[in-house]
Amino acid sequence: MQNFGYERAGTVEEALRQHGATRENAYLAGGTTLIDLAKLNVMQPQKMVDVNRLGLDKVETLPDGGLKIGAMVRNSDLAWNATVQERYAVLSESLLAGASPQLRNMATTGGNLMQRTRCTYFRDNLSPCNKRQPGSGCAAMDGVNRGHAILGTSESCIATHPSDMCVAMAALEATVLVQGDKGERRIPFGEFHLLPGDTPQKEHDLLPGELITYVTLPALAAGTKSYYLKLRDRQSYEFALASAAVVVRTEGGRIREARVAFGGIGTKPWRSKEAEAVLHGKPVEEKVFRAAAEAALKNAKPHKENAFKVELAKQALVRALQTVTA
Ligand SMILES: Cc1cc2nc3c(=O)[nH]c(=O)nc-3n(C[C@H](O)[C@H](O)[C@H](O)COP(=O)(O)OP(=O)(O)OC[C@H]3O[C@@H](n4cnc5c(N)ncnc54)[C@H](O)[C@@H]3O)c2cc1C
Ligand code: SF4
Repeated sequence: MQNFGYERAGTVEEALRQHGATRENAYLAGGTTLIDLAKLNVMQPQKMVDVNRLGLDKVETLPDGGLKIGAMVRNSDLAWNATVQERYAVLSESLLAGASPQLRNMATTGGNLMQRTRCTYFRDNLSPCNKRQPGSGCAAMDGVNRGHAILGTSESCIATHPSDMCVAMAALEATVLVQGDKGERRIPFGEFHLLPGDTPQKEHDLLPGELITYVTLPALAAGTKSYYLKLRDRQSYEFALASAAVVVRTEGGRIREARVAFGGIGTKPWRSKEAEAVLHGKPVEEKVFRAAAEAALKNAKPHKENAFKVELAKQALVRALQTVTA
């Protein structure tokens, strides 16, 4: 582990000033990703700016019925928040499916958005990895790739985005609010994480030094239900092999509105407009769910060890839709 500087900010303005418009420094939230990767010399910031005391730790209901979540709200607090449990069940379920209680007590909303891939080659400084060291190659392409992505991959990188929370936020059409030296920006969730293309080291839309301050969720129409299903090698303390977040409103036995996102199979939290188009206006029937799953996985590109994810993801979606409409 390399030496690094440390400063603690008391306000957003102070945090921006202490960090500066650079990629050399890093904001320190719960530290469950950053300290981990600093110890492995995978992330080596010159300075960590502690943002735990900025007051961004509240969940507020907006006048239009939406929700405003501070970037420093802990994953546990968000999961157990009464409004989240009542109106955005998919978000609570996704958070509780992630990591362990101890980790969730530390991990924050902003940090969860920014967590890095669990690809073992990325975490191992000796392996070629285009994400960690651009141009060095990708050891996963012909290596151990059972846990890797089948959607959104490129010739440079096939790593999954590991977050559960982000899958729910993609289906809920969240907006990420960020603050930088040029003021505030609002980033639609689908544009926040980037596809790897030939620059897999560039994972998100943040400019150097920008700080995530809030995530907002729009109000859901009355009668909307949501659900998160995570399939993994063991029932707790394990990342998703495939997961599905569904937000659905039915009326008279037909699907009036449906939003679908996948985890564990995409290089970013994977919203499936293809599945949504199939579901829209159709009867609540298993064959419709299956058609939606086929559409969602139509462009899947499996590698040597992860072809099983294609069917697993389809089954995750069918089962999630059955559960949410039951
Ligand atoms: C053993 C283990 C198991 C896990 N299992 C799961 C799982 O099953 N599902 C899952 O979803 N996650 C899992 N995680 C990941 C965990 O959810 C993340 O580590 C956590 O959410 C990161 O939040 P943090 O506050 O600790 O971030 P930090 O580690 O403090 O920061 C992470 C990154 O975000 C940046 N950052 C933090 N806050 C901000 C901000 N406000 N603005 C801009 N940048 C910011 C930091 O600079 C850093 O680059 C696991 C982690 C571990 C260690
Ligand atoms: S899949 Fe991506 S993160 Fe993993 S080794 Fe290849 S380039 Fe690195």
